[in-house]
Amino acid sequence: MGMFAAQDIDIGEVIVAERPLIVAVGHMRQSPYPFHHPWELQRMVAERLTGKNREEFFALHNCKGYTRPHVTGIMDTNAVGFRLGMSDYDAECQAVCKDISRANHSCSPNAMWSWRLEAFALEFRATWPIKKGEQVYARYSDIYEPREKRQKYLLERYKFKCICPSCTSDTSLSDRLRAMLKAASEANRCGDDSALLQWIKNPTLPDDKILVQCRFMISICDEERFYDGDTWPVWFERIVKAYCALEDEEKARMWAEKAAKLSKIGVGHDAGWGDVAKDPKNTNWWGLRSQTRSGVRLFQSLDDFQIRDVLQGQGPRGLGAILPQFAST
Ligand SMILES: [Zn+2]
Repeated sequence: MGMFAAQDIDIGEVIVAERPLIVAVGHMRQSPYPFHHPWELQRMVAERLTGKNREEFFALHNCKGYTRPHVTGIMDTNAVGFRLGMSDYDAECQAVCKDISRANHSCSPNAMWSWRLEAFALEFRATWPIKKGEQVYARYSDIYEPREKRQKYLLERYKFKCICPSCTSDTSLSDRLRAMLKAASEANRCGDDSALLQWIKNPTLPDDKILVQCRFMISICDEERFYDGDTWPVWFERIVKAYCALEDEEKARMWAEKAAKLSKIGVGHDAGWGDVAKDPKNTNWWGLRSQTRSGVRLFQSLDDFQIRDVLQGQGPRGLGAILPQFAST
């Protein structure tokens, strides 16, 4: 069983938005009601479901067998986690949904859920282009962990062995790429423009220095087939600013359009990227590198940037200095 696309779905599009069948506040695990075990509370809530909702809930898989009551088993197998997001009560919650809970796991997920407090609903959007007939996958585990750790967690928690491409193909390369992406994204936060400003001021640096770094990171997302909100934003923000600084309208627009689609997944709107895509010239970054342009580039064109060439040391001379932490190992 699983979820399959009935039509082509583009990045950022809503696959399904639904009110959960049951929402449990994380704290219920330490029940505030002294006379009720959390399991008992879950059972009482589930028993109140009626009609189709009740049918759908009790038809869900329970991978926990007889280790706990059936309702808790269903909750622990199918619940999706989120934060409530109320200004005075940002509790960790778990929800069981009729449809979203039926999506299977992949370590290269093509969809993600996020909570919309204003609608009291979970929204499930595509994070990767999905073709009609393809399976829709969410993630149940930390996709930046190495394969072995992911497998161990999934087996213990959900009783299955993942057979996604990154768990079955060249896993040592996949593990390495994911670790690089995570580490570099943590070291380069959104809104931190220091690297950009340094490059803008220094005419001895190659004109495509920032572009090469960003393309390298985005290529890891492409290679591993996932765009995750913890890592894509910093590189997209930076590459758009760099193209604006270089007055490359076409490229700035192209990346801003993609960022607009990706932003919808996390926050439900384009986070202002749509305006940048419409008119990149109308940003504070436009032309900032014009005065200091060096005319030196590492790559003639970044359109055919191949991450495997770079990892095998086949990139242009001087690349090591720009990607020092990735030149060896
Ligand atoms: Zn996997």
